[in-house]
Amino acid sequence: MVYAPVLNEPGLPPIRINLLSDTQTRPSAAMRQAMAAAEVGDEQMGDDPTVTSLCQRVAALLGKEAAVFMPSGTMCNVAATLVHCRPGDEILAHDTAHLVALEGGAHAAFGGVQVKPLHGAHGQFAPELFRAALRPATRNQPRQTLVSVEQTANLGGGAVWKLSALEAIVEIAKANGLATHMDGARLLNACVATGISARAMAAGWDSVWLDFSKGLGAPLGAVLAGSRGFIDEVWRWKQRLGGAMRQAGICAAACHYALDHNVARLAEDHGNARALAAGLAKIPGIDVQPPETNMVFFDTGGAGLPSEAMVAALRRRGILACVMAGRIRTCTHLDVSAAMIAETLQAVGEILQAAVEPAVLSSPAPRRSVS
Ligand SMILES: *Cc1c(COP(=O)(O)O)cnc(C)c1O
Repeated sequence: MVYAPVLNEPGLPPIRINLLSDTQTRPSAAMRQAMAAAEVGDEQMGDDPTVTSLCQRVAALLGKEAAVFMPSGTMCNVAATLVHCRPGDEILAHDTAHLVALEGGAHAAFGGVQVKPLHGAHGQFAPELFRAALRPATRNQPRQTLVSVEQTANLGGGAVWKLSALEAIVEIAKANGLATHMDGARLLNACVATGISARAMAAGWDSVWLDFSKGLGAPLGAVLAGSRGFIDEVWRWKQRLGGAMRQAGICAAACHYALDHNVARLAEDHGNARALAAGLAKIPGIDVQPPETNMVFFDTGGAGLPSEAMVAALRRRGILACVMAGRIRTCTHLDVSAAMIAETLQAVGEILQAAVEPAVLSSPAPRRSVS
């Protein structure tokens, strides 16, 4: 229950500006209308026309043979690794990756799979580091069966993997008999930011998925794509894990709506993130990672207030953010406007001023001068 106290603590004002995550988006009235009008059937029996057309659409978008609709992105990662790996196998992934850090150990719990964490700035590892982490196949070492990347890298600050690095990783993986998995929760953010197509980004990756409940604004749903044989095996795990659904077209209709209306507009979120970062960078002492997509990671410790205290003070003003991996994470999305970014910047400035001034007055030797 990590987020519950932040969201609901009694005595706090209502949240007016929600920068916690792009999962906080609410389905718009028009999206709800599309959902209400959806043609539906039994998804588990392959008989929901709206789900079927969504899967065909996403498979085409990603350049894959087939796709399957899932309740969540986490289930895409879990089902994919369960198909790619056997107990005792090893996945190579960045140590901050969602599948390593934020899925409750699902890959070990269900698949008996271990992860070899790779390191590097911004949630990414160099292709050469991946190559160096590969071991010869011997009887006493775990089988290395899968390499996974996150596009964009969430805890890496929404950083975008370069196409050349993705291609290099695929080449090394193929040469060494490893399967390749792309956690594309925010792949379309990467595509909008770079102008590179999703098909090109996903080329050579055996499995890749999109999350619809992030910046695309749908209430739930993710689509995992790959070869037909791979998706057939994923269906087995979807069934076993309880992810096979019934009239899921209601939700798939929201995903269709998102593909129609909410992809190009991700550029607005990226613009708002840049504006937020630019404003923060002007405040002395704030350390801010230049955003590539819709996240801004920053640290206010150097400006005189620890990041946790800044998040608490923002929340008291109705602005919701969080501390992740030691820094403040803010996330822009379709329910965050340019005016809200301006208000957030003003709030950060005022909070720092209020925090630093009394400290300077009461301390004979301030650590930094305020002028
Ligand atoms: C959110 C997220 C997931 C999990 O998606 P859910 O739909 O929340 O289960 C996986 N990977 C990354 C990179 C994410 O940001």
